[in-house]
Amino acid sequence: MADRLLPARGVAHLTVRDDLRALEGYHSPQVDVSVRLNTNEAPEAPPAAWRDALAAELSRVDWHRYPDRHAAALREAIAAEHGVDPAQVFAGNGSNEVLQVLLLAYGGHGRTVATFEPTYQLHAHIARLSGAAVVEGERAPDFTLDLDDARRVVTSAQPAVTFLCSPNNPTGLVEPREYVLALLAEVPGLLVVDEAYGQFADWSALSLVDDDQPLVVVRTFSKTWSMAAARLGYLVGPRSVVAELDKVTLPYHLDAVKQIAGRLALRFRDQMDERVAHVVAERGRVAARLHELDLDVFPSGANFILFRPRSLDGRAVWQALLDRDVLVRDCSGWPRLSGCLRVTIGTPAENDAFLSALTEVMAP
Ligand SMILES: *Cc1c(COP(=O)(O)O)cnc(C)c1O
Repeated sequence: MADRLLPARGVAHLTVRDDLRALEGYHSPQVDVSVRLNTNEAPEAPPAAWRDALAAELSRVDWHRYPDRHAAALREAIAAEHGVDPAQVFAGNGSNEVLQVLLLAYGGHGRTVATFEPTYQLHAHIARLSGAAVVEGERAPDFTLDLDDARRVVTSAQPAVTFLCSPNNPTGLVEPREYVLALLAEVPGLLVVDEAYGQFADWSALSLVDDDQPLVVVRTFSKTWSMAAARLGYLVGPRSVVAELDKVTLPYHLDAVKQIAGRLALRFRDQMDERVAHVVAERGRVAARLHELDLDVFPSGANFILFRPRSLDGRAVWQALLDRDVLVRDCSGWPRLSGCLRVTIGTPAENDAFLSALTEVMAP
């Protein structure tokens, strides 16, 4: 084929947008190990009854037709789950796509997006991809939100979008309700609360969503619903915001399989709650053991725990765990997290494997 083309100009002259040139991709290494506790997935597969129900419905899909463009049945099921109107629900291919659509609509060139670091790196990353400028507010040394500083940031930067993450990834801290309310009263634009781990927390900003409030709450099926492979997330927010997002997203962006998978999953709410309770119990057990070791351990309201070896190098501990076939998240090179590692709560057996490997590594 190549000889039919005009003289090749090559690709060396192709350049990405100026504002993307210095950007690095977002990576979470997928290493093949037996104990994988680095990406905060649920430790168990979804209930077998869900898989059976999904298989039954898939046999009735009109494969030659586009799926329901508005994912009406899925939105209705999500709306019923949270006691809101389906017009207040927007779903996407993972909550990351929901964030991307939000930032395409409300971020973009000439606008500013605010985050409070350390927090989920994709908030700033996707904001930059959209062309927006990012201002990074600082959290206090114990990673709680410094409300005075947060007020200063939103007042001076006038962000079109302000992000909170509760429970916060990677610290595990739940944002207090008063702080969310205080920031909501202050932001000039949209406040986004990412609740990927919301079911683990003792309160949810979903209770604050209202058509007259500039607030959206983002959730995902990837973590508590044991469905990371499905790539499905959503937000709940004002009808007017959802209507704008519907204009920005690609047509038929949610495939038929995903729409069915998500709708059916919500019938298994009780099982999901049970799994959350198990993870929370395991989190308590793991945290108690971590506190006995020479580590700083941060309090977690999520399905992971952030910790920092006091006298050993974080990166070396990560490698020593990997040598023992246990993969955790190395946050040691991230800004403001020097020396920190994050472990996902797994099955009791996985947690035991992690704890015994770590005990060995920490032994003097
Ligand atoms: C895991 C995670 C997500 C999930 O992204 P999906 O695209 O839904 O898998 C979103 N936000 C935070 C803070 C996360 O930790």
